[in-house]
Amino acid sequence: MPRIQVLSDTLVNQIAAGEVVERPANALKELLENSIDAGAQSLNIELMAGGTKLIKVIDDGIGIEKDDLALALHRHATSKIKDFDDLQRVGTLGFRGEGLASIASVSRLVLTSRFDGGAHAWRVEADHGRLSDAEPAALALGTSIEVHDLYYQLPARRKFLKSDSTEFAHCAEMVNRLALANPDKQFTLSHNGRASLRLMRGDVHKRCAAVLGDEFVQSAVAIDERAGPLRLWGLAGSPTLGKSSRDAQYFFVNGRFVRDKVIQHALREAYRDVLHHDRHSAYCLFLELEPEGVDVNVHPTKIEVRFRESGAIYRFLLTSLTRALSATKAGAVPAGVD
Ligand code: ADP
Ligand code: MG
Repeated sequence: MPRIQVLSDTLVNQIAAGEVVERPANALKELLENSIDAGAQSLNIELMAGGTKLIKVIDDGIGIEKDDLALALHRHATSKIKDFDDLQRVGTLGFRGEGLASIASVSRLVLTSRFDGGAHAWRVEADHGRLSDAEPAALALGTSIEVHDLYYQLPARRKFLKSDSTEFAHCAEMVNRLALANPDKQFTLSHNGRASLRLMRGDVHKRCAAVLGDEFVQSAVAIDERAGPLRLWGLAGSPTLGKSSRDAQYFFVNGRFVRDKVIQHALREAYRDVLHHDRHSAYCLFLELEPEGVDVNVHPTKIEVRFRESGAIYRFLLTSLTRALSATKAGAVPAGVD
């Protein structure tokens, strides 16, 4: 047996990258979440070759100070939490401080940022973990991050990437999720130099119409139910809408897209009486609860959560949804009709 040795930072980051950035869409998620956490109002996304050649996100958020640029790419370095108490009630999308470090270890990453009030921007480049010195750069405001050639130097990983069009579809779906949860922000997306999506600021109904279609919004039931610290709101696809597909199922917990067994079970039960077996409901629903009531630190991608009181959550969801859906059966007015 060889002797035990401590792995290099780059290798540690590359191991983490296997979990955090499975494919371009996951890298894009990390970048967009950072922009949202930085208070951006406008997020511009440029992709080349499904994100495998380039993922670029430009935001108008608070920016990063020159002296923090290298830290932003450092593993376990974050401005979002400081201690265990903060971890118990995370209010930002990120907090693990490993997104950028992971991406930068498996790509060539260029980070340009102009901190709020700074005279000009600064730029650093990380080539598979090797970091350059900061140089002055031009940027109106906010932050621009370019991820070039993701997994280019890791053929074993690259092999798992699908065609450009499939990777692009995953990226576009990731944008849809973040856009639905942030209707007050503008999103633009281009692929290979061609505009693909432009979402202007608006409310959830407008955003749902733009992403899920007018037909969904017009026939969906508006829900807004509260019980103590719990609130469920959004649009539940009408059982009468035949074309619903599994793809159009969006559930957010405190603004974060999640997939969760408790939630899925409640939704299935609520829809069971009103849907035929072969149909799938479409929905865009938001559950809000106190941050202490949900643990988001279950998996590096944070798509899974754990509720402290999962029984209470299940009952609340089932009661709220059943009430809303049975109201449609009785001929209530759908959300899109004034
Ligand atoms: P985390 O999001 O978990 O903190 P990241 O590796 O994704 O970890 O980012 C590290 C840090 O870099 C963040 O905590 C934040 O301070 C800074 N940062 C990253 N992206 C941006 C951005 N677009 N605008 C402003 N700050 C950013
Ligand atoms: Mg992050």
